[in-house]
Amino acid sequence: MRAAMRVNTVCVYCGSSDSIRPEYLDAARAMGAALAGRGQTVVFGGGRTGMMGALADAALAASGRVVGILPEQFDTEALAHRHLSELRVVPSMHARKALMAEMGEAFVALPGGFGTFEELFEILTWAQIGMHHRPVGVLNVLGYFDPLLGLIAHARREGFIYAEHPSLLVSEVESGRLLDRLEEYIAPDGLSRWVERR
Ligand code: AMP
Repeated sequence: MRAAMRVNTVCVYCGSSDSIRPEYLDAARAMGAALAGRGQTVVFGGGRTGMMGALADAALAASGRVVGILPEQFDTEALAHRHLSELRVVPSMHARKALMAEMGEAFVALPGGFGTFEELFEILTWAQIGMHHRPVGVLNVLGYFDPLLGLIAHARREGFIYAEHPSLLVSEVESGRLLDRLEEYIAPDGLSRWVERR
């Protein structure tokens, strides 16, 4: 039986778009402040725009530690956040995701677009095949993730997702509650069975 673990570093995936409702930016700021308040290091994509910038600025303003992992392709004045505790520039998107996955002891997706979905589903897929046993959550602010959670339920009903796998994804509306749930999370045993079922 696995035990719940203290989480020191949280990897946050979130949107880069600036063309979003202010409530989403408020939620990113609340998450940044909550992480800093709990003494948890934030690892994120290193961008200064949209949800990423709001998250990082709020965590830094609350004296948190924020580490950005940026592919060199995005290392521009318009895109890169220049005031982080640490900015690591890596050669590619794949290198970035590998480093973010290695550093995160828990993973959170805030609302975002394709990039956020892709990062979330990659880390969930790795949990499903037993490559890691760390918690993964979404901040379901304004019900943003309802259609995605609905799609997962649909895939489960249609047999594309096994019964024990939807619980790999934790969903909460409020940041502090989501972070509490991730610290309480205990990974189910036998996840690598997925591989044996093929
Ligand atoms: P999206 O949800 O499509 O806006 O993509 C956001 C995710 O992809 C973030 O978690 C980042 O890791 C990455 N990403 C996309 N655009 C940027 C950008 N301009 N600067 C830094 N990271 C980005």
